[in-house]
Amino acid sequence: MKQTQAITGILEQLVNIPSPSGYTEACIDHCATYFEDLEVPAYKTKKGALIATLEGEDNTQQRLLTAHVDTLGAMVKEIKSDGTLKLSMIGGFRWNSVEGEYCEIHTASGATYSGTILMHQTSVHVYKDGGEAKRNQENIEVRVDAEVHNAQDTKDLGVQVGDFVSFDPRFQVTDNGFVKSRHLDDKASVAILMHLVDTLKEEGVVLPYTTHFYISNNEEIGYGGNASIPEETVEYLAVDMGAIGDGQTTTEYIASICAKDSSGPYHYGLRQHLVQLAEHNDIGYEIDIYPYYGSDASAAIRAGADVKHGLIGPGIDASHAVERTHVSSLEHTFNLLFAYVQSELVE
Ligand SMILES: [Zn+2]
Repeated sequence: MKQTQAITGILEQLVNIPSPSGYTEACIDHCATYFEDLEVPAYKTKKGALIATLEGEDNTQQRLLTAHVDTLGAMVKEIKSDGTLKLSMIGGFRWNSVEGEYCEIHTASGATYSGTILMHQTSVHVYKDGGEAKRNQENIEVRVDAEVHNAQDTKDLGVQVGDFVSFDPRFQVTDNGFVKSRHLDDKASVAILMHLVDTLKEEGVVLPYTTHFYISNNEEIGYGGNASIPEETVEYLAVDMGAIGDGQTTTEYIASICAKDSSGPYHYGLRQHLVQLAEHNDIGYEIDIYPYYGSDASAAIRAGADVKHGLIGPGIDASHAVERTHVSSLEHTFNLLFAYVQSELVE
């Protein structure tokens, strides 16, 4: 299917640009170039987010859609005496979810080194109880791919405390449509928004309301799209992953419409509107509640924005770890957004 191929194409590029929260400039620049090529005006906020805008028939009442390019990652916390690196987490995940993962260390000088995230007690031939040892900041370390024997050797590479560390995304699309990669949260949604803007431009769609596409860069640390919200914004829709697990309705094959997360209920009228759009357009969806979750829409509300806020997104399995979704989820989410941006505002 043409739509999903375009989306996964954009997605593959996005996940391969390292962008842990705090280190998102290259990824934001990539998005900026995309909008520039489409001749869609966009500007960067002081916090480093990107806001692209499609002017609509009504400019006095506006819409805003957001997705975030920042991802989980880490920072060099300490250079250990054997030359390995201790990490400090960026965003919320469990150490076991990155154990064994390849990573990159982005030094301040611009040099990048590869490495592997390992338990200190990994070798079974040396450490008897490595399996029981806690996966924590103390025991998890980065083995840098360079000949280092001590802390000074590592420092001599230019590696220092505060360097960003990104995780290998390992992007794959299987023949039967599964998309496997880290950072599908939330680059899958960013890819959908980018392709949506492209489609609207290509089809010459004139939107009923001026609509902003806010590519946020601080969501994982709680304060993404909570500032620089254009004053005329009436509806604020976050496009972010749907959470899958025991008791959840969300799957990898539908668009997830969030009724409530840790921040409380989303705007009821906007939620109902999204459900109706899905019903009328034959879009696969589920309404769900995410137990441990906040979004840029709730961050905006907390920051004092007076908007109707909503949250939808593709269903992502094993979130904040080795994530997976299916192209059908990307397609349903795209179709729901395509219908939404052309619909009337909620009363
Ligand atoms: Zn997210």
